[in-house]
Amino acid sequence: MHIISSLFSLPARVWNSLGASSRCFAVSLALVAAGALNLRAGTVVLDPGHGGYDPGGVPRQRYSEKAAALDIALRVRAGLLARGHRVVMTRASDVFVELSERVAISKKTSGSPVFVSIHLNSSPNTGAAGVETYHYSSKSARLARAIHQQVVAAAGSLDRGVRRARFYVLRHNKRPSVLLELGFLTNASEGAKIARSANHRQKLANAVVAGICSVVR
Ligand SMILES: [Zn+2]
Repeated sequence: MHIISSLFSLPARVWNSLGASSRCFAVSLALVAAGALNLRAGTVVLDPGHGGYDPGGVPRQRYSEKAAALDIALRVRAGLLARGHRVVMTRASDVFVELSERVAISKKTSGSPVFVSIHLNSSPNTGAAGVETYHYSSKSARLARAIHQQVVAAAGSLDRGVRRARFYVLRHNKRPSVLLELGFLTNASEGAKIARSANHRQKLANAVVAGICSVVR
């Protein structure tokens, strides 16, 4: 009783003067408040593309896709943890992980997670630039749109749209799952910005976090 009355900063005499039903209501309120404080936001599986002997991108590309993807994913992890999410990484260092293993990690993660794969784009056409977001199942469309909207605004780059594609990690994944192409490393200016500016990578990561948080509570 004293603990509950002190939660509401009620003097003991006020608490004691409350009727039984008011006390019951106050206790319920306190329990709801305590529960809200402990409430964990949803679980997110983060999947930095490529790694190890698989650098990603196209042969002889100047900026490494696997390094940028991991760096941004680790920044996204930090942002999500700060907002109370549980985060599981398919890789957290420069190692190769099979696509089937990435999906298996998504499948075995408890707490109905969403799956977010992080990539940087490349093209033989060095003029290509901009942001693309992919999903396969229709239940993943909302998450894709939410993240895409944030990333396009933050990247200050071309909006190449939300697209549907049969990528392995999306097609074999029962969880709501999206694959982000956060910009083209083969484009001289976009590639340099992503590879050389930690500030820009942080901006992209913050946008991914904001998109995820708008859907995954
Ligand atoms: Zn990739």
